[in-house]
Amino acid sequence: MLETICEVLEDAYKRNWITSRDGNVSIRHHDRDHFYITPSGVRKQTLQPDQFKKIKIWRTINSGVGTGAFNYNYEELEYTDISANLKPSGEIPLHFGLQREMGQHKNDVRVVVHVHPTYCIAAMHAGIDLNSISKAFPELNRYTRVAHNVGDVAPISQELADQCHHHLELDKDGNIAYDIVGIKGHGVVAIDTSPWRAYEHIERLEHICRIVLASGKY
Ligand SMILES: [Zn+2]
Repeated sequence: MLETICEVLEDAYKRNWITSRDGNVSIRHHDRDHFYITPSGVRKQTLQPDQFKKIKIWRTINSGVGTGAFNYNYEELEYTDISANLKPSGEIPLHFGLQREMGQHKNDVRVVVHVHPTYCIAAMHAGIDLNSISKAFPELNRYTRVAHNVGDVAPISQELADQCHHHLELDKDGNIAYDIVGIKGHGVVAIDTSPWRAYEHIERLEHICRIVLASGKY
C-alpha cells in the first residue's frame, strides 16, 4: 500500500493540490503496533516506498487512580537505509492522534491523507463552512461526512492536530464522526480504509466546492 500512497501523492501534485514538498499521508493496519508516515522535505511527486518513516506506537496504562485511560507515545524505527536519514512529516501529531487507536476501522486499515486542494481552500477563504454546503449536495453527503472547518491554526503545530481531532470528533477509542475536515487557509485531512478511498472524499468535496464557488451563491 505504500506504493499506492506514492501514486495518490503523484496524482495530488498533478491536480495542483500540493506543491513539491507539501502533503503527507500515514497508514496503519489494525493488528500492528506501528504506522508508516511520509517523510518531511521530500518531493512528493517522486516519493518511493523506501522513503517512508516507520513509527512505533507505545501504549501504557495511566497510573492515575480510577481513570483507566492509556498514555501514548511514539518512537521512530529504522526502516530502510534511505529513510534512516529522513525525518517524519512535521504533521506527525495530527497523524499519531488518528492512528494510535483504530476505532471505526478496528479490523481494517486506516489511511490519513493531508493535502491542499484549491477549491476547498478557496471556499473556506470565502467564509464557507464545508459542513454546511455538504447538506445541499446528496452526491457528497451520501458518501462523505464533512466536519465543521478548523479555523486559523499554525501548520505542523499541536494545536492543528488537536483542533482537527476535535472537529472530526475523535474519541478515546479512535472512532471519528466525520471523514474529512478542512483547515482554513491551509488544506484538508481525510481518513478511510485505503489511500484511494480517503482521496475520494477529498475529490468529492473539491468538486462540490468548485460548483458552489461557480454559482456565486453562498
Ligand atoms: Zn499542509
